[in-house]
Amino acid sequence: MSGSAGSAPRVGVLSLQGDVREHAQVLTQLGAEVTLVRRASELAAVDGLVLPGGESTVIDKLSRSFGLQAPLREAIAAGLPVLGTCAGLILLADRLADGIAGQETFGGIDATVRRNAFGGQVESFEADLDVAIFEPPTVRAAFIRAPVIEEVGSSATALAALPDGRVVAAEQGNLLAMAFHPESTGETRFHRRFLDRVSSRV
Ligand code: GLN
Repeated sequence: MSGSAGSAPRVGVLSLQGDVREHAQVLTQLGAEVTLVRRASELAAVDGLVLPGGESTVIDKLSRSFGLQAPLREAIAAGLPVLGTCAGLILLADRLADGIAGQETFGGIDATVRRNAFGGQVESFEADLDVAIFEPPTVRAAFIRAPVIEEVGSSATALAALPDGRVVAAEQGNLLAMAFHPESTGETRFHRRFLDRVSSRV
């Protein structure tokens, strides 16, 4: 791994499609050195990776045409810290419901994620969530054509749920993922947790 004790964590944002800039801004503001990752050589040079929100079907297809799917799966299996939001959560799920034909994920989190779980009138909404791993205040969460975590397997841990009980954030080892967009509401605690993982692994 690159990086050395005391230097800024070197993290990447997967930059195939989606809200790359918002994540890069939050990470830079938190003191990280940010690289935009589009190829395997760039992935190999970072100590942690963010999978942004966007469109998981497009990110999946582009990751395969850019030769990134296999290196990403290997990096995840080797323990690379990864933060995934929305489409990023979908890409980190071991099992996918309501994917398009042929859609694949990178996997890593033992969970079933359903795409576009809030159809019709509530495609986008905000909610305040209790997240057990954080001190108050609650997390202001923006859901945009969001998925839900329909089933959490025994290797993963649910971190947050909507008032109706549907799980919207989970973690497993160095992987942390949520159905909402902390990067768009000024919520930095998930990114801090991710950067802590990166620093302790480097
Ligand atoms: N609906 C999108 C998908 O399937 C996710 C939406 C988002 O990332 N805001 O990938």
